[in-house]
Amino acid sequence: MSDQNKDQLFRFLFKELGVRGEIVSLDASFQDALTLHHYPTVVAEQLGQALAASLLLSATLKFDGSLILQIQGDGPISMLVAQSSELQTVRGLAHWDGDIEAGNLATLFGNGRLVLTLKPTKGKAYQGIVSLEGESLSEALESYFTQSEQLKTRLWFAVNNDKAVGLLLQELPAHGGEQADWERVEMLANTITNNELLGLTAEDIIHRLFHEESVTLYEPQTVQFKCDCSREKVEAGLLTVGHAELVSLLEEKGAVDTNCDFCNQHYHFDAVDIEQLFTTGKTSGSAVHH
Ligand SMILES: [Zn+2]
Repeated sequence: MSDQNKDQLFRFLFKELGVRGEIVSLDASFQDALTLHHYPTVVAEQLGQALAASLLLSATLKFDGSLILQIQGDGPISMLVAQSSELQTVRGLAHWDGDIEAGNLATLFGNGRLVLTLKPTKGKAYQGIVSLEGESLSEALESYFTQSEQLKTRLWFAVNNDKAVGLLLQELPAHGGEQADWERVEMLANTITNNELLGLTAEDIIHRLFHEESVTLYEPQTVQFKCDCSREKVEAGLLTVGHAELVSLLEEKGAVDTNCDFCNQHYHFDAVDIEQLFTTGKTSGSAVHH
């Protein structure tokens, strides 16, 4: 995409057909997610797709909160997670082992499962789990939607060293659009190439695919890499580890240090912090009060 499309999410709508669409480009946000890790190209490509997917899917939700896409498997990539919020912030990471050859989902993840968690800011979280099926992440997600949501959904991804781009088509809930209309826009979208996704602006992609359709393109939203880790959350984790365990860690290392896997933010607790935490439930370093 051109410069003005960097790190942006576009929504578009075929109002008469009852079909919505989105295009997302992750540029600096993709680089931010890669920067702390030395991912092999194959892993970075899967992560880029997952980051794009989580943004596309979270933008279809009607509530404020986050969407977490996770793949767990027994293959070379054992874990892949991407999380997005209603503000188009995104973070993600992957765990992998050894040299990884390019391949389909089964080659990369082995026997795996796909977990989608919807976490509204208010209210109960919802989790959907399906076995990981298909050749690619887009196929796995499409199969998830067929099984669980009954909303026709198609996804296309393209990733290179610089960026990750995703395209989504989804039928609107309770619209009852014509099957033939859905099939026509789906067929048109299917003609998109990786080079076009990576090289064209969102406007040009939509023109290239749907110039004979009536389609509304909305103002884009900015996408940003952002981690929601905090000292408070780390403290909540330490409280569950327990006092005795932390005291023995303090004796061994002099302090309790931890780094966020997503953003590498460093959290440091000395003996005084730990005692204060277990006395008052927080440390003086915590600036957040509710
Ligand atoms: Zn973090």
